[in-house]
Formats: sequence, structure tokens, C-alpha cells
Amino acid sequence: MTRSAFAHVDGVLHAEGVSAVSLAEQFGTPLYVYSRAALTDAWQAYAGACAGRRATVHAAVKANSNLAVLNVFARLGASFDIVSAGELARVLAAGGKAENTVFSGVGKSVAEMREALEAGVKCFNVESIPELDRLNAVAASVGKTAPVSLRVNPDVDAKTHPYISTGLKSNKFGIAFDEARAAYRAAAAMTHLRVVGIDCHIGSQITEIEPYLDAVDKLLELVTQIETDGVTIHHVDVGGGLGITYDDETPPDIGEFVRTVLDRIESRGHGHREVYFEPGRSLVGNAGILLTRVEYLKPGAEKNFAIVDAAMNDLARPAMYQAYHGIEPVVQRDVPSHVYDVVGPVCESGDWLGRERLLAIEPGDLLAVRSAGAYGFVMSSNYNTRGRAAEVMVDGDKAYVVRAREEVRQLFAGETILPA
Ligand SMILES: *Cc1c(COP(=O)(O)O)cnc(C)c1O
Repeated sequence: MTRSAFAHVDGVLHAEGVSAVSLAEQFGTPLYVYSRAALTDAWQAYAGACAGRRATVHAAVKANSNLAVLNVFARLGASFDIVSAGELARVLAAGGKAENTVFSGVGKSVAEMREALEAGVKCFNVESIPELDRLNAVAASVGKTAPVSLRVNPDVDAKTHPYISTGLKSNKFGIAFDEARAAYRAAAAMTHLRVVGIDCHIGSQITEIEPYLDAVDKLLELVTQIETDGVTIHHVDVGGGLGITYDDETPPDIGEFVRTVLDRIESRGHGHREVYFEPGRSLVGNAGILLTRVEYLKPGAEKNFAIVDAAMNDLARPAMYQAYHGIEPVVQRDVPSHVYDVVGPVCESGDWLGRERLLAIEPGDLLAVRSAGAYGFVMSSNYNTRGRAAEVMVDGDKAYVVRAREEVRQLFAGETILPA
């Protein structure tokens, strides 16, 4: 699992067997590049640790919803976690199955519930009593029974960035721990719902196992109470959130993480329950890079800027979360290095990709922004009327365009002006 899909060979960064220089020349920049081998390795790390256990891995579609990425997972036998009807459509288009898909999210619309019921999703992860009421009514209207799990907020501190921590009381997600038992009683009494499980999702980019074990312990305590009330819980869904190495973080190894969680559930006497995992970032994050070209080097009294052709509209994480991404020259060159802020062309001071990076570069050089496979392209926008980047997937020594670069005319094709 240590194989790095993106490595320098003779001073030139490669994606598997393909030079990043040739990718940029062939497909232009900014360019997202994914490695099939890296996606497969991450998947196998989860699947391998689940083999022979009562455990299922659901790839969280929102981290990277490109059809080719989802299809790689679908071919490996993945189940999926979605947060919208749009993502359901992507799963189905990519060869995934509704009956292997769980539907998460705090604001499901009536139309989305109807679509998911008609497609036959495996479970609705419900986040509030009003949502239970709505789902019950929608299920009745289409003559179905909706399988439900309640997302419980275990109120544990995942020790991550406040914007991506979701398991605390102060947060919009989930049903409060103290209200969950009553919510289960309410759900069990609704005629068009069938309680099947319990779930939580405590945050993202979590680099320790302890918060998961704390969450699991609290969930299992609740499961015992709920079953005392006569409601059977078939599965325990521990959510996603496992972190990756962007800089110097040392998250647990995927296999170790999975085994530790499963062992804990077993040792608490709940080994007969099916366990669901919903990884996003840890499946795709380090399976992608963003290639960008240096447009200008702009020396300054206080700072030097490397102005590149990728921007916050292409990769929003630095602007949104002050997130760190490794940035390195695609070609290692013998030119003087300087400390640069790597920034994009968008008219916002927040438009930066990396701060204070020591780089040996010249205008026209290519840079690789690392760990861009998760929450990268999916969060991109057309701000400043910039077409979204192309996406390619490398498989061995072949590269495939898996999403064409957007052209400007597409960006306002749906717009009209008022009559004369
Ligand atoms: C976002 C999300 C995930 C995936 O989170 P990662 O941090 O990318 O692993 C899983 N489950 C739910 C409910 C989510 O909202």
C-alpha cells in the first residue's frame, strides 16, 4: 500500500507510467489527474480489512463523483454513500446499484426521497424528526416502506478543523444523543418506515482512531437501549472521515483503522451486527493531483508570488479551509529557488493554493498540487467565468480523458437576456 502512483522518474513527475509533462501538453492545464492504481489500492485496503467480517464499505460519492472514479469502485464491488439525488444518478450511471447505496444528508427534498425510494436505495440515513415525518409520508404516497437509520450525534470531539467537524452538539448534523432513543420509538411507530440501523459521521480528516472508538461506544450503548424498546438494529454505520497525509499528518493505516473499529464492536458484544464504513477522502484524496502552469513570477518587497493558471475555482480547499496541499515542480530544475505564495488569477485575495513555498521554478513551468483527488474537482465552480478543468485518469501507461474541459460557451448556454 506504500506504492506511490505519483513519483518523480529521472526528475520528471509521473502518474503511474505517464509523464505529467506529456499529460499537460496533451490535455492542457489546469488538469486533474487520477491514478486508477491508487484508487484501487485504497479500495483494497478497506475491502481487504473487511474480508471475512460482517462489514461493508460505501464509497462517499461527494469526495469525488467523476463517473470513471465511481466506475473503478463499482467494478471492485463497492457500495456507495450519497447526499443527493444527483449523486444517486451518478452512481447508477457509473454501474453502481441503488440497493447498495445509502442516502445521507441533512436536507433531503420530497423529490429526492421519491427518486431514492423508486430506485430502491438500501437505507436512508435520517437526521431529524421532521425528516422522519416527511419520509414516512413520501413512502406512503408511493406505496413503499423506507428503510431507515438515524444519524446520531455522539457528541465526541474529532479534533479536526471546525468546518469539517460534524459530531459535536453545536453542529447542524444528526439527532442529539439524548433525543435519539425517543426518535427511534417515533420511527418504529411510523407505518411506512422500517428501522434497519444506526449511523454517525463525526467529521473529516480525522487522524486518530480514538474519536471513532468513543463514537462507537456511545452508539452501541444507545443500540442496547433501543433494542430494549423492541426495535431491532441490524447495522451500525460508523460514517467516513478518516484523514490522509497532506503535509506531516500521520493518520492510522486504513487496514488498522478498520480492524480496530470492528474489533471494538465485537468486543462490546455487537459482532453480530453488520458494520458500514463510508470513506471519502481516504479513498480518493491521494489518488489525484492538480497540474497547473506558472503564468508569471511576481517578485515583491514582502512576498514573491507565483501566479499559476489554477485558482480557487478549481481547488477551493485552501481558500475555504486554509487547507495545505503539497506543491512541487513537475520537472526538477537547476534554477534558483525562492519562497513564493502560489496564487491563481481569480480576483480575490483568498485565491491562493499554497503559501510560502520554496520552489525552483521559472515562468511556463508546471506545478503539481498534491492530494487533490478528494473535494477537489467536485467543489470547483465557474467563478470569474472560468471553465472547469479537464479530468484524466491514468491506468498504467495510458491516459483517458474522463471529463472534458469546459468551454466558455457552455458556461452561459442556459442564460437569456430580457426581450427588447
Ligand atoms: C462527507 C461524508 C462522508 C465522507 O467523509 P470523508 O471525510 O471524505 O471520509 C461520509 N459520510 C457522510 C454522511 C458524509 O457526509
